[in-house]
Order: sequence, then C-alpha cells, then structure tokens
Amino acid sequence: MNYDYTVIGGGVSGMTSALILAKQGLSVALVEQSGQLAPTIRGFTKKGLFFDTGFHYTGGLGAGEPVDLFFRYLGLSDALEKVAFREDAFDSFRCLEPPFVFRFPCGYDRIRERFYEVFPDECEAIDTYLSAVREQYHSVPYVNLDMSEVSAGFSTVHGPTLQEFLDRLTNNRLLKCIFSMHCFLYGVAPDEVSFANHANVAGSYYESVNGISGGGLKLTEIFEEQLEKAGVHVFRGQEVTGMLLSNDGAFCGLTLKDGTNVSAEGCISTIHPHRLLEIVPDSVFRPAYVSRLNELEETASACILYAVCSGPIEDLVGSNIFIFPEPDFTCFYKNAAVEKRPMYITAAGGKHDGEKAKHGFIAICPMSKEQTKPLVDPVSQERSANYKLLKEEMSEKMVRSIKASCPEIAEKIIDITCATPLTLRDYTNSPFGSLYGVKHKIGQYNPMPVTRLKGLFLAGQATTAPGIMGAMMSGFLACGTILGHEKLQKELKQCRPEG
Ligand SMILES: Cc1cc2nc3c(=O)[nH]c(=O)nc-3n(C[C@H](O)[C@H](O)[C@H](O)COP(=O)(O)OP(=O)(O)OC[C@H]3O[C@@H](n4cnc5c(N)ncnc54)[C@H](O)[C@@H]3O)c2cc1C
Repeated sequence: MNYDYTVIGGGVSGMTSALILAKQGLSVALVEQSGQLAPTIRGFTKKGLFFDTGFHYTGGLGAGEPVDLFFRYLGLSDALEKVAFREDAFDSFRCLEPPFVFRFPCGYDRIRERFYEVFPDECEAIDTYLSAVREQYHSVPYVNLDMSEVSAGFSTVHGPTLQEFLDRLTNNRLLKCIFSMHCFLYGVAPDEVSFANHANVAGSYYESVNGISGGGLKLTEIFEEQLEKAGVHVFRGQEVTGMLLSNDGAFCGLTLKDGTNVSAEGCISTIHPHRLLEIVPDSVFRPAYVSRLNELEETASACILYAVCSGPIEDLVGSNIFIFPEPDFTCFYKNAAVEKRPMYITAAGGKHDGEKAKHGFIAICPMSKEQTKPLVDPVSQERSANYKLLKEEMSEKMVRSIKASCPEIAEKIIDITCATPLTLRDYTNSPFGSLYGVKHKIGQYNPMPVTRLKGLFLAGQATTAPGIMGAMMSGFLACGTILGHEKLQKELKQCRPEG
C-alpha cells in the first residue's frame, strides 16, 4: 500500500484534509481508530430519538461565509440542508441571581440594537466591543481570502485577554458576562483566552447561526460519500501505533495496530498532541518540543445529560439556553459546586427533520476529569461501583438546576442518559475526554502545521481552534502549507455564490 499522503484521525479535521488533498489528484489514505468515521460528532439514537454528540450549531455557514465555502469546495453542499436558528434569539442567556434574560439575535445590526435596548447606558462599550470582534474575525486567514500572507493561523497567544479587554470597556458585570458567554463554545475562561481568539469564534456566530438537518450524523455521511467518490482509502477501526522513517530521516509511512504498514510520501496528523507523541519515534522531536506538547493545558470536560421528553420544548426550537447561576465564570474552575456552574441546553432531534414525534434535549455542564479519575482502574479501565453512583448524583444535581432555571423543560423529562469525562474520552479517543482538546489560551504555544519531521504536518482542533469551523480551517491551513495558500484561497473564492 503506497499513497501520496496519509491522514491520521477521521474526525472533521481529518476528513477535510483528506478530501482537499484528494481533490488535487493525490492518492490519500485516511486512518481512523474507531469502527466508524467521526465518532466525536456522529451522535446516537436512544428510544427512537437522535442525540447529537459534538455538533449542535455553527457560525460561518451563511451563504458565502467561510464554512459555507468550505462545504461548497469539498462538494458537501448539495446534499446538505441548513437549519437556520431563530433570528430573534439563537441563544438565550438566563442568569438566576440577579434574575435576567438576554436573547441574542442573529446579525451584528440586530445584536447591537438588542444590546442598546437592554443596556441603554452602555452604547459606547457595545459599539467598541462589536466593532473589535468583527474586525478581528475578518482578519483571520481563510475567513479573509484576500490575505497575501497566511501566517500559521488563527490562534493568538498574546493579550489582551477577553477579561482585560472588557474591563477596560465597562464595569457592568451582566454585560461583560453576556459578551463572554460564548466562552462555552471553546472552553477557555475570559481571563485566559485572548480577545482575538474569542472574537475568532464568537464573531462567526454573530454573523449567522445554522444547524444541519440530520445533525452531525448527516454531515459525516455526506463526508463519507465524498471521500468515496474522491477515491480516498478509508481505514476504519485501525489505530495508528507508529511512524516509519526513511534512511534520510523523512516520514515514509505509518504502522497500524494490526501490523499493517501504510507507505506514503507525507502525512497530516489531526489527533491530540499527546497521542501524536505516542506514535512518533523518540529521536524525531527535540526534548523542548516534547515538553511543550506534554504540558499543553486541556479544556474542561463535561457531564452531559441526554433527555427524552414527553412533548416539544418551545424555548429550544431553533434556540439554545445558557444558564448562569451568577454572572461569572467560576464554572471553569474545578471545584465549583454543580449548582454554581453554568449549563448549556440544546434541543435533541426536534431541530432536525424526521423526528417530529420525538422530543428531548441535551444539557452540558462543565466537569473536571479529575472527578472521575479515582473511579476507574488505571490498568483494566473498569469503572468501579462508585462510578455509577457519581453519574446518578451528577444527573440528580443537573436536573435540580434545570428545575430551578427552566421548570417548563424539567417537567417534561421522561428518560435520562448521562455521559461523563470517561464517556467522552472513550468515544472520541482523546486522552482526557476534554470537550475541545487542548486550550487556545494566552501564553500557551499550540503546535503549528509544520513540524521538524520532513513530510509530517499537523491539523486538528489543537492547532487552530475547536468547533466544526476551527477543525475544517485547520485542514485548510495544513493543506495550504503543502499545496500553497494562494492556490487554495483562489479555489475557495471560485466557490462563492453568485450575487
Ligand atoms: C459535547 C460537545 C459538543 C460540541 N458542540 C459543538 C457545536 O455545537 N458546534 C461546533 O462547531 N463544535 C462543537 N463541538 C466541537 C467539535 O465537535 C470538535 O471541535 C471537532 O469535532 C474536532 O474535530 P477534530 O477532527 O479536530 O478532532 P476529533 O473529532 O477528536 O478527531 C480526531 C480523530 O482521531 C482519531 N484518533 C485518535 N488517535 C488515533 C490513532 N492513534 N489512530 C487513528 N485514529 C486516531 C479519533 O478517534 C478521532 O476520530 C462539540 C464538542 C463536544 C465534545
């Protein structure tokens, strides 16, 4: 088996990278450890209701926006039906103490108007914040396709932090918390994330907000069709365990767990940096680089409830709810009590077609992996009896929080399934089960697409940003490094819709 390129990891980043390379006429092998591609976003069905696991909604999917162009470029658009979120309230911020609701509308103009209405004394802060977000978001490579120089990417390690930026604008705690609430979408607290990284993610949602009919499963199936059409050889259920080097020390292939060798001229790895270190021969990276990757800090993990309900939930039709017990971010610190942590609630099934008769929701509450660590045998990986108790306790506490903040949702629950950091770890093959892999935070140097090993390039949420947009963009950045950014940007521009 000999290919031009191998891609390690069949998540969104890996599928994107493999398709871009195959579109250029290169022969490509994509290797995924799980039995099926994209285990992170594939979702599952319980009691006849589909639950999304790693994709609920995205920014940047409006006509001509970056994710839309990526989908068009990869041939995914025709088979994919967008589901627009509510224009007047794609996300709702619900604070319990003080009681306060803010509904985020779609589009900068509407957002500005809504903020003006609710915070009439803060017009200057609102203008400054929104203009800065927009300007930053449009300065990002592959968002702005006219950039003559594409630096390594998206992630900014320099300040100011989001918190510092907001503290300079206003003293209004509620306003600052609402500006910061989309921290949930990348898992880094306002005092750690750079304002730029916050704007790169939040900015995409401020322009447009869409889901996909059929959710992450449908997206994966469409990717699979295109991978097959493009002739990508997909290895499913195959873990990459080693890397082969040529006599002159360049990359020349992969070893799979069953002993198969897959030869190739080059490789894009999209897996967690710690897992990369397990497969790269010891001599390849300098000790300082190995330490840097080993020391990367993770985003929080979560406890997730998947609830089947007795009837439709009005507030979750085309809209999500962010519950904040107080207008602050103690959630990102390990020891906050469950009742003190924010929670994100989104519809299951109901926002997708073909599920009209079934209703439910997904509730995500940040949780540290440390809480489940003592409950699993480090060798056999068997969960102890106390693990079941912890799940019951977490479920009860989260339901209690939902009852307090959204009684109209809680009263409809008829069945609950609970996932913990261990569940996330095992389904996504990510070492810590964190929501978004490693953090993109001030002072943390995440890996870049180019490595010291000739022929080895990196993509994935660790390199660029999490989310469907971040993962896809990481594929374009890695492939652009190989094929030329100018070429890829030009080809993307040709995908712009007319008008
Ligand atoms: C609960 C949750 C909700 C989310 N909600 C949203 C949302 O609403 N919108 C949004 O945009 N984003 C969301 N995200 C984030 C988004 O799902 C991720 O950022 C994105 O899917 C990451 O893609 P990736 O390809 O970079 O990584 P991964 O999906 O982790 O892909 C890496 C792949 O590599 C495989 N692998 C690992 N080691 C090996 C090996 N040695 N050999 C072979 N294969 C290997 C893994 O099995 C995995 O499939 C959510 C994430 C979670 C967890």
